[in-house]
Amino acid sequence: MKYDVIIAGGGPGGATCAEFLAKNGVDVILFEKGDNNRYKACAGGLMWHNELDFGSLPPEIIERDVDHLILHGPTEFVDLKSDNNSTKIGQLTYRNRLDCYLREKAIRSGAIIETNSEVFNISCHKDFVEVEVKSNSHIKRIKGDAIVIATGVHGNKLHRKLKIDRPLEIEQAIQAEYYLPSHVVEERFGGGVYELFFNSQIASHGYTWIFTKKEGVSVGMCNKNVDIKHFQEVLKHHPIIRPKLEGAKPIEFEGKHIWAAPIPDRILEHIYGNKVILVGDAAGFIDRFTYEGIWHARMSGRLAAETLIKAKKKSDYTASFLLKYQRKCSRIFEIIQNSQKMHHLVYHSGFMDLLIDTMALILQDKELSEEYTKNIQPLLEGLLEPGDEIAHLGIEFRRRLLESLKNKLDKKSFRKINRLIEYAYFIK
Ligand SMILES: Cc1cc2nc3c(=O)[nH]c(=O)nc-3n(C[C@H](O)[C@H](O)[C@H](O)COP(=O)(O)OP(=O)(O)OC[C@H]3O[C@@H](n4cnc5c(N)ncnc54)[C@H](O)[C@@H]3O)c2cc1C
Repeated sequence: MKYDVIIAGGGPGGATCAEFLAKNGVDVILFEKGDNNRYKACAGGLMWHNELDFGSLPPEIIERDVDHLILHGPTEFVDLKSDNNSTKIGQLTYRNRLDCYLREKAIRSGAIIETNSEVFNISCHKDFVEVEVKSNSHIKRIKGDAIVIATGVHGNKLHRKLKIDRPLEIEQAIQAEYYLPSHVVEERFGGGVYELFFNSQIASHGYTWIFTKKEGVSVGMCNKNVDIKHFQEVLKHHPIIRPKLEGAKPIEFEGKHIWAAPIPDRILEHIYGNKVILVGDAAGFIDRFTYEGIWHARMSGRLAAETLIKAKKKSDYTASFLLKYQRKCSRIFEIIQNSQKMHHLVYHSGFMDLLIDTMALILQDKELSEEYTKNIQPLLEGLLEPGDEIAHLGIEFRRRLLESLKNKLDKKSFRKINRLIEYAYFIK
Protein backbone atom coordinates (compact mmCIF):
# COMPACT_ATOMS: atom_id res chain seq x y z
CA MET A 1 0.00 0.00 0.00
CA LYS A 2 1.11 3.55 -0.69
CA TYR A 3 0.31 6.27 1.90
CA ASP A 4 -0.15 9.92 1.14
CA VAL A 5 2.30 10.94 3.85
CA ILE A 6 4.86 9.08 5.96
CA ILE A 7 6.07 10.72 9.17
CA ALA A 8 9.35 9.75 10.84
CA GLY A 9 9.27 10.64 14.55
CA GLY A 10 6.40 10.78 17.04
CA GLY A 11 7.34 13.71 19.31
CA PRO A 12 5.15 16.85 19.45
CA GLY A 13 6.11 17.83 15.88
CA GLY A 14 5.32 14.50 14.23
CA ALA A 15 2.24 13.72 16.33
CA THR A 16 0.67 17.14 15.70
CA CYS A 17 1.33 16.84 11.98
CA ALA A 18 -0.24 13.36 11.93
CA GLU A 19 -3.34 14.56 13.77
CA PHE A 20 -4.02 17.47 11.40
CA LEU A 21 -3.34 15.38 8.28
CA ALA A 22 -5.63 12.54 9.40
CA LYS A 23 -8.40 14.95 10.42
CA ASN A 24 -8.38 16.26 6.87
CA GLY A 25 -8.62 12.92 5.14
CA VAL A 26 -4.94 12.39 4.35
CA ASP A 27 -3.72 8.77 4.65
CA VAL A 28 -0.84 9.07 7.06
CA ILE A 29 1.43 6.61 8.82
CA LEU A 30 3.83 7.67 11.57
CA PHE A 31 6.82 5.64 12.75
CA GLU A 32 8.26 6.27 16.22
CA LYS A 33 11.46 4.49 17.12
CA GLY A 34 10.81 4.52 20.89
CA ASP A 35 8.07 2.75 22.77
CA ASN A 36 4.80 4.48 23.57
CA ASN A 37 6.00 5.69 26.97
CA ARG A 38 9.43 6.85 25.77
CA TYR A 39 11.13 9.40 28.06
CA LYS A 40 12.47 12.50 26.35
CA ALA A 41 14.96 14.70 28.18
CA CYS A 42 12.78 17.78 28.52
CA ALA A 43 11.61 19.92 31.43
CA GLY A 44 8.03 19.83 30.15
CA GLY A 45 7.48 23.59 30.30
CA LEU A 46 4.59 24.59 28.06
CA MET A 47 4.62 28.34 27.55
CA TRP A 48 1.24 29.98 27.31
CA HIS A 49 1.13 30.10 23.49
CA ASN A 50 0.65 26.30 23.54
CA GLU A 51 -2.81 26.78 25.05
CA LEU A 52 -3.57 29.86 22.93
CA ASP A 53 -2.77 28.08 19.67
CA PHE A 54 -3.73 24.48 20.41
CA GLY A 55 -6.38 24.70 23.13
CA SER A 56 -6.36 23.21 26.62
CA LEU A 57 -4.75 19.90 27.43
CA PRO A 58 -6.72 17.50 29.64
CA PRO A 59 -6.00 17.86 33.37
CA GLU A 60 -4.37 14.41 33.62
CA ILE A 61 -1.56 15.64 31.31
CA ILE A 62 -0.91 18.79 33.33
CA GLU A 63 1.30 18.61 36.40
CA ARG A 64 0.90 22.25 37.39
CA ASP A 65 -0.25 25.61 36.06
CA VAL A 66 2.64 28.07 36.19
CA ASP A 67 1.64 31.37 37.74
CA HIS A 68 5.07 32.78 38.53
CA LEU A 69 8.52 32.97 37.06
CA ILE A 70 11.56 33.61 39.22
CA LEU A 71 14.52 35.16 37.46
CA HIS A 72 17.87 34.99 39.26
CA GLY A 73 21.03 36.81 38.29
CA PRO A 74 24.19 36.07 40.26
CA THR A 75 23.18 38.53 42.99
CA GLU A 76 19.67 39.85 42.30
CA PHE A 77 16.37 38.09 41.69
CA VAL A 78 12.76 38.90 40.96
CA ASP A 79 9.62 36.82 41.45
CA LEU A 80 7.32 37.72 38.57
CA LYS A 81 3.82 37.08 39.79
CA SER A 82 0.59 38.95 39.55
CA ASP A 83 -0.95 40.14 42.80
CA ASN A 84 -4.33 38.54 42.26
CA ASN A 85 -2.85 35.21 41.07
CA SER A 86 -4.77 35.60 37.82
CA THR A 87 -1.81 35.33 35.48
CA LYS A 88 -1.04 32.04 33.82
CA ILE A 89 2.46 31.99 32.38
CA GLY A 90 2.34 28.42 31.19
CA GLN A 91 1.94 24.84 32.32
CA LEU A 92 4.08 21.87 33.24
CA THR A 93 3.89 18.31 32.04
CA TYR A 94 5.92 15.13 31.75
CA ARG A 95 6.95 14.61 28.16
CA ASN A 96 6.22 10.90 28.01
CA ARG A 97 2.60 11.68 28.96
CA LEU A 98 2.27 14.64 26.61
CA ASP A 99 3.73 12.78 23.63
CA CYS A 100 1.55 9.75 24.33
CA TYR A 101 -1.53 11.97 24.48
CA LEU A 102 -0.67 13.78 21.22
CA ARG A 103 -0.11 10.47 19.43
CA GLU A 104 -3.40 9.05 20.78
CA LYS A 105 -5.18 12.15 19.51
CA ALA A 106 -3.68 11.54 16.08
CA ILE A 107 -4.83 7.91 16.17
CA ARG A 108 -8.36 8.99 17.11
CA SER A 109 -8.30 11.29 14.07
CA GLY A 110 -7.44 8.34 11.82
CA ALA A 111 -3.62 8.29 11.68
CA ILE A 112 -1.77 4.98 11.83
CA ILE A 113 1.03 5.05 14.39
CA GLU A 114 3.63 2.35 14.85
CA THR A 115 5.94 2.61 17.85
CA ASN A 116 9.22 0.68 18.29
CA SER A 117 9.71 1.36 14.58
CA GLU A 118 12.80 3.18 13.38
CA VAL A 119 13.01 4.71 9.93
CA PHE A 120 16.62 3.96 8.98
CA ASN A 121 16.65 4.60 5.26
CA ILE A 122 14.83 6.86 2.79
CA SER A 123 14.99 7.02 -0.95
CA CYS A 124 13.29 9.62 -3.12
CA HIS A 125 11.95 8.48 -6.51
CA LYS A 126 10.21 10.34 -9.31
CA ASP A 127 6.68 9.59 -8.07
CA PHE A 128 7.11 8.42 -4.50
CA VAL A 129 9.37 8.20 -1.46
CA GLU A 130 10.25 4.89 0.11
CA VAL A 131 11.37 4.29 3.67
CA GLU A 132 12.90 1.27 5.29
CA VAL A 133 11.62 0.66 8.80
CA LYS A 134 13.03 -1.60 11.48
CA SER A 135 10.36 -2.87 13.93
CA ASN A 136 11.81 -5.28 16.49
CA SER A 137 13.97 -7.36 14.15
CA HIS A 138 11.68 -7.07 11.12
CA ILE A 139 12.44 -4.76 8.26
CA LYS A 140 9.74 -3.45 5.98
CA ARG A 141 9.55 -1.01 3.09
CA ILE A 142 6.75 1.57 2.93
CA LYS A 143 5.92 3.96 0.11
CA GLY A 144 4.37 7.40 0.35
CA ASP A 145 3.81 10.50 -1.76
CA ALA A 146 5.82 12.59 0.74
CA ILE A 147 7.72 12.31 4.01
CA VAL A 148 7.80 14.53 7.09
CA ILE A 149 11.05 14.39 9.04
CA ALA A 150 10.11 14.94 12.70
CA THR A 151 12.98 13.04 14.26
CA GLY A 152 14.26 15.76 16.60
CA VAL A 153 17.98 16.50 16.63
CA HIS A 154 18.85 12.83 16.79
CA GLY A 155 17.57 12.11 13.30
CA ASN A 156 20.65 13.41 11.50
CA LYS A 157 21.09 10.07 9.79
CA LEU A 158 17.98 10.74 7.71
CA HIS A 159 19.11 14.28 6.86
CA ARG A 160 22.29 12.70 5.48
CA LYS A 161 20.37 10.12 3.43
CA LEU A 162 18.33 12.94 1.88
CA LYS A 163 21.50 15.02 1.40
CA ILE A 164 19.97 17.95 3.27
CA ASP A 165 21.48 20.40 5.69
CA ARG A 166 21.33 19.39 9.37
CA PRO A 167 21.61 21.08 12.78
CA LEU A 168 25.13 21.10 14.17
CA GLU A 169 24.01 20.53 17.77
CA ILE A 170 26.13 23.24 19.36
CA GLU A 171 24.17 23.73 22.57
CA GLN A 172 23.15 20.98 24.91
CA ALA A 173 20.91 20.53 27.89
CA ILE A 174 21.12 18.18 30.83
CA GLN A 175 18.39 17.37 33.25
CA ALA A 176 17.17 15.23 36.11
CA GLU A 177 13.80 14.64 37.75
CA TYR A 178 13.37 14.47 41.54
CA TYR A 179 10.53 13.41 43.78
CA LEU A 180 9.38 15.81 46.52
CA PRO A 181 6.03 15.57 48.31
CA SER A 182 3.45 17.96 46.95
CA HIS A 183 3.23 20.07 50.14
CA VAL A 184 7.04 20.52 50.09
CA VAL A 185 6.88 21.72 46.47
CA GLU A 186 4.26 24.24 47.52
CA GLU A 187 6.20 25.43 50.60
CA ARG A 188 9.53 25.77 48.81
CA PHE A 189 8.42 26.97 45.39
CA GLY A 190 4.95 28.46 45.87
CA GLY A 191 3.33 25.97 43.44
CA GLY A 192 3.83 26.04 39.68
CA VAL A 193 6.99 27.94 38.78
CA TYR A 194 9.66 28.35 36.14
CA GLU A 195 12.72 29.29 38.22
CA LEU A 196 15.74 30.32 36.13
CA PHE A 197 19.28 30.92 37.39
CA PHE A 198 21.64 32.88 35.15
CA ASN A 199 25.29 33.00 36.12
CA SER A 200 28.12 33.03 33.58
CA GLN A 201 30.42 31.18 35.99
CA ILE A 202 27.98 28.26 35.97
CA ALA A 203 26.67 28.36 32.37
CA SER A 204 27.89 31.00 29.94
CA HIS A 205 25.45 30.04 27.15
CA GLY A 206 22.33 29.28 29.10
CA TYR A 207 20.94 28.89 32.56
CA THR A 208 20.10 26.41 35.28
CA TRP A 209 16.40 25.77 35.89
CA ILE A 210 13.99 24.27 38.35
CA PHE A 211 10.46 23.58 37.07
CA THR A 212 7.95 22.18 39.52
CA LYS A 213 5.79 19.12 38.97
CA LYS A 214 2.89 17.88 41.19
CA GLU A 215 5.21 15.79 43.28
CA GLY A 216 8.70 16.81 42.38
CA VAL A 217 10.86 19.02 40.24
CA SER A 218 12.74 18.95 36.94
CA VAL A 219 16.18 20.44 37.38
CA GLY A 220 18.43 21.13 34.45
CA MET A 221 21.05 23.24 32.78
CA CYS A 222 21.56 24.35 29.20
CA ASN A 223 24.93 25.47 27.95
CA LYS A 224 27.42 25.13 25.12
CA ASN A 225 28.79 21.93 26.59
CA VAL A 226 27.21 20.09 29.43
CA ASP A 227 29.20 18.14 31.94
CA ILE A 228 27.45 15.78 34.37
CA LYS A 229 30.02 16.37 37.12
CA HIS A 230 29.68 20.14 36.87
CA PHE A 231 25.88 19.84 36.93
CA GLN A 232 26.00 17.64 40.03
CA GLU A 233 28.42 20.03 41.75
CA VAL A 234 26.07 22.96 41.07
CA LEU A 235 23.10 21.08 42.54
CA LYS A 236 25.17 20.14 45.59
CA HIS A 237 26.68 23.54 46.32
CA HIS A 238 24.50 26.30 44.85
CA PRO A 239 23.34 28.39 47.84
CA ILE A 240 19.74 28.68 46.59
CA ILE A 241 19.31 25.41 44.68
CA ARG A 242 20.81 23.12 47.34
CA PRO A 243 18.29 23.87 50.11
CA LYS A 244 15.43 23.72 47.63
CA LEU A 245 16.42 20.17 46.71
CA GLU A 246 17.08 18.98 50.24
CA GLY A 247 15.63 15.49 50.71
CA ALA A 248 14.63 15.26 47.02
CA LYS A 249 14.77 11.68 45.72
CA PRO A 250 16.13 11.05 42.21
CA ILE A 251 13.60 9.57 39.80
CA GLU A 252 14.86 7.22 37.12
CA PHE A 253 13.47 6.87 33.61
CA GLU A 254 14.51 3.83 31.62
CA GLY A 255 17.07 3.09 34.35
CA LYS A 256 18.78 6.51 34.09
CA HIS A 257 18.57 9.53 36.39
CA ILE A 258 20.48 12.23 34.49
CA TRP A 259 19.70 12.81 30.83
CA ALA A 260 21.55 15.01 28.36
CA ALA A 261 20.41 15.96 24.86
CA PRO A 262 21.58 18.30 22.10
CA ILE A 263 19.73 21.45 21.08
CA PRO A 264 19.71 22.58 17.43
CA ASP A 265 21.98 25.54 16.87
CA ARG A 266 20.07 27.22 14.04
CA ILE A 267 17.14 27.01 11.66
CA LEU A 268 18.11 25.01 8.58
CA GLU A 269 18.36 26.92 5.35
CA HIS A 270 15.98 24.49 3.62
CA ILE A 271 13.14 23.08 5.70
CA TYR A 272 11.49 21.49 2.67
CA GLY A 273 12.57 19.70 -0.49
CA ASN A 274 11.19 17.44 -3.17
CA LYS A 275 8.52 15.35 -1.33
CA VAL A 276 10.12 16.27 2.01
CA ILE A 277 9.20 18.59 4.90
CA LEU A 278 11.14 19.04 8.14
CA VAL A 279 9.44 20.06 11.39
CA GLY A 280 10.39 20.84 14.99
CA ASP A 281 13.93 20.26 16.20
CA ALA A 282 14.76 18.44 12.94
CA ALA A 283 14.28 21.80 11.17
CA GLY A 284 16.18 23.67 13.89
CA PHE A 285 13.01 25.31 15.26
CA ILE A 286 13.91 26.18 18.83
CA ASP A 287 13.99 29.42 20.80
CA ARG A 288 17.62 30.52 20.84
CA PHE A 289 17.34 32.31 24.18
CA THR A 290 15.12 30.09 26.35
CA TYR A 291 15.65 26.88 24.31
CA GLU A 292 11.90 26.27 24.36
CA GLY A 293 10.83 24.02 21.46
CA ILE A 294 7.56 22.18 22.12
CA TRP A 295 5.35 24.98 20.76
CA HIS A 296 7.65 25.39 17.73
CA ALA A 297 7.43 21.65 17.01
CA ARG A 298 3.64 21.58 17.32
CA MET A 299 3.18 24.75 15.25
CA SER A 300 5.53 23.62 12.47
CA GLY A 301 3.82 20.19 12.51
CA ARG A 302 0.46 21.86 11.98
CA LEU A 303 1.78 24.15 9.21
CA ALA A 304 3.43 21.19 7.48
CA ALA A 305 0.07 19.38 7.59
CA GLU A 306 -1.76 22.39 6.11
CA THR A 307 0.74 22.46 3.24
CA LEU A 308 0.52 18.72 2.62
CA ILE A 309 -3.30 18.78 2.62
CA LYS A 310 -3.12 21.29 -0.25
CA ALA A 311 -0.37 19.26 -1.94
CA LYS A 312 -2.64 16.20 -1.92
CA LYS A 313 -5.49 18.19 -3.49
CA LYS A 314 -3.16 19.35 -6.28
CA SER A 315 -1.27 16.04 -6.49
CA ASP A 316 1.87 18.13 -6.30
CA TYR A 317 4.55 17.28 -3.76
CA THR A 318 7.40 18.98 -5.60
CA ALA A 319 9.78 21.33 -3.82
CA SER A 320 8.30 24.30 -5.68
CA PHE A 321 4.86 23.52 -4.19
CA LEU A 322 6.15 22.65 -0.71
CA LEU A 323 7.90 26.03 -0.61
CA LYS A 324 4.51 27.22 0.71
CA TYR A 325 5.46 25.57 4.01
CA GLN A 326 8.52 27.81 4.40
CA ARG A 327 6.29 30.85 3.80
CA LYS A 328 3.70 29.63 6.30
CA CYS A 329 6.41 29.38 8.95
CA SER A 330 7.12 33.13 8.87
CA ARG A 331 5.81 33.70 12.44
CA ILE A 332 8.05 30.92 13.78
CA PHE A 333 11.02 32.38 11.87
CA GLU A 334 10.39 35.83 13.29
CA ILE A 335 10.08 34.59 16.86
CA ILE A 336 13.29 32.58 16.52
CA GLN A 337 15.12 35.49 14.89
CA ASN A 338 14.12 37.68 17.83
CA SER A 339 15.30 35.02 20.26
CA GLN A 340 18.60 34.89 18.34
CA LYS A 341 19.05 38.61 19.07
CA MET A 342 18.45 37.92 22.78
CA HIS A 343 20.90 35.00 22.52
CA HIS A 344 23.50 37.40 21.18
CA LEU A 345 22.81 40.04 23.79
CA VAL A 346 22.80 37.73 26.82
CA TYR A 347 25.19 34.93 25.84
CA HIS A 348 27.71 36.72 23.62
CA SER A 349 27.97 40.30 24.89
CA GLY A 350 30.18 39.38 27.85
CA PHE A 351 27.70 41.13 30.17
CA MET A 352 25.25 38.34 31.00
CA ASP A 353 25.56 38.66 34.79
CA LEU A 354 25.19 42.43 34.81
CA LEU A 355 22.29 42.30 32.35
CA ILE A 356 20.25 39.74 34.27
CA ASP A 357 20.92 41.38 37.63
CA THR A 358 19.87 44.73 36.18
CA MET A 359 16.73 43.25 34.58
CA ALA A 360 15.80 41.62 37.91
CA LEU A 361 16.27 44.95 39.71
CA ILE A 362 14.14 46.84 37.17
CA LEU A 363 11.37 44.25 37.40
CA GLN A 364 11.25 44.58 41.17
CA ASP A 365 9.16 47.68 40.44
CA LYS A 366 5.68 46.35 41.34
CA GLU A 367 3.73 48.19 38.69
CA LEU A 368 6.06 47.30 35.81
CA SER A 369 6.45 43.72 36.97
CA GLU A 370 2.67 43.18 37.23
CA GLU A 371 2.13 44.35 33.65
CA TYR A 372 5.22 42.59 32.40
CA THR A 373 4.11 39.27 33.92
CA LYS A 374 0.67 39.57 32.37
CA ASN A 375 2.21 40.07 28.95
CA ILE A 376 5.24 37.86 29.21
CA GLN A 377 4.33 35.67 26.21
CA PRO A 378 4.17 38.44 23.58
CA LEU A 379 7.14 40.20 25.19
CA LEU A 380 9.24 37.04 24.90
CA GLU A 381 8.09 36.44 21.33
CA GLY A 382 9.25 39.98 20.56
CA LEU A 383 6.73 40.58 17.79
CA LEU A 384 5.65 43.99 19.07
CA GLU A 385 5.20 46.85 16.66
CA PRO A 386 5.26 50.53 17.74
CA GLY A 387 1.57 51.31 18.35
CA ASP A 388 0.73 47.85 19.72
CA GLU A 389 -1.24 48.04 22.95
CA ILE A 390 1.64 46.75 25.05
CA ALA A 391 4.53 48.22 23.03
CA HIS A 392 5.00 50.87 25.74
CA LEU A 393 6.07 48.08 28.10
CA GLY A 394 8.93 47.04 25.87
CA ILE A 395 9.93 50.66 25.34
CA GLU A 396 9.83 51.45 29.07
CA PHE A 397 11.79 48.33 29.97
CA ARG A 398 14.46 49.14 27.39
CA ARG A 399 14.66 52.77 28.61
CA ARG A 400 15.18 51.70 32.22
CA LEU A 401 17.69 49.04 31.23
CA LEU A 402 19.81 51.51 29.27
CA GLU A 403 19.56 54.19 31.96
CA SER A 404 20.70 51.76 34.61
CA LEU A 405 23.54 50.27 32.56
CA LYS A 406 24.84 53.73 31.62
CA ASN A 407 25.78 54.31 35.25
CA LYS A 408 27.49 50.95 35.58
CA LEU A 409 29.62 50.72 32.43
CA ASP A 410 32.46 52.68 30.87
CA LYS A 411 31.66 54.53 27.63
CA LYS A 412 33.02 51.88 25.26
CA SER A 413 31.19 49.00 26.95
CA PHE A 414 27.99 51.02 27.14
CA ARG A 415 28.14 51.81 23.41
CA LYS A 416 28.48 48.09 22.69
CA ILE A 417 25.63 47.02 24.95
CA ASN A 418 23.46 49.90 23.78
CA ARG A 419 23.78 48.65 20.19
CA LEU A 420 22.87 45.09 21.19
CA ILE A 421 19.92 46.20 23.33
CA GLU A 422 18.55 48.49 20.62
CA TYR A 423 18.79 45.53 18.25
CA ALA A 424 17.22 42.98 20.60
CA TYR A 425 14.75 44.94 22.70
CA PHE A 426 11.78 44.79 21.80
CA ILE A 427 10.33 47.11 19.24
CA LYS A 428 11.51 46.98 15.67
C1 LIG B 1 16.92 18.89 28.59
C2 LIG B 1 15.94 19.61 27.70
C3 LIG B 1 14.89 20.31 28.28
C4 LIG B 1 13.93 20.94 27.47
N1 LIG B 1 12.90 21.59 28.09
C5 LIG B 1 11.94 22.17 27.32
C6 LIG B 1 10.80 22.77 27.92
O1 LIG B 1 10.65 22.79 29.15
N2 LIG B 1 9.84 23.33 27.12
C7 LIG B 1 9.97 23.32 25.76
O2 LIG B 1 9.09 23.86 25.07
N3 LIG B 1 11.04 22.73 25.15
C8 LIG B 1 12.01 22.14 25.89
N4 LIG B 1 13.06 21.51 25.28
C9 LIG B 1 13.08 21.43 23.81
C10 LIG B 1 12.09 20.36 23.35
O3 LIG B 1 12.30 19.15 24.06
C11 LIG B 1 12.20 20.09 21.85
O4 LIG B 1 12.28 21.29 21.15
C12 LIG B 1 11.01 19.28 21.36
O5 LIG B 1 11.00 18.01 21.97
C13 LIG B 1 11.05 19.12 19.84
O6 LIG B 1 10.00 18.26 19.43
P1 LIG B 1 10.16 17.37 18.11
O7 LIG B 1 8.88 16.66 17.92
O8 LIG B 1 10.71 18.19 17.01
O9 LIG B 1 11.33 16.33 18.46
P2 LIG B 1 11.43 15.26 19.62
O10 LIG B 1 10.62 15.62 20.77
O11 LIG B 1 12.89 15.02 19.81
O12 LIG B 1 10.77 13.97 18.98
C14 LIG B 1 11.41 13.26 17.94
C15 LIG B 1 10.91 11.83 17.97
O13 LIG B 1 11.41 11.15 16.84
C16 LIG B 1 11.82 9.85 17.21
N5 LIG B 1 12.82 9.43 16.22
C17 LIG B 1 14.09 9.90 16.06
N6 LIG B 1 14.67 9.30 15.01
C18 LIG B 1 13.75 8.45 14.49
C19 LIG B 1 13.74 7.57 13.38
N7 LIG B 1 14.82 7.46 12.59
N8 LIG B 1 12.63 6.85 13.13
C20 LIG B 1 11.52 6.96 13.93
N9 LIG B 1 11.47 7.79 14.99
C21 LIG B 1 12.57 8.54 15.26
C22 LIG B 1 12.35 10.03 18.63
O14 LIG B 1 12.32 8.80 19.34
C23 LIG B 1 11.38 11.07 19.19
O15 LIG B 1 10.27 10.49 19.83
C24 LIG B 1 14.05 20.90 26.05
C25 LIG B 1 15.13 20.22 25.47
C26 LIG B 1 16.06 19.57 26.27
C27 LIG B 1 17.18 18.83 25.62
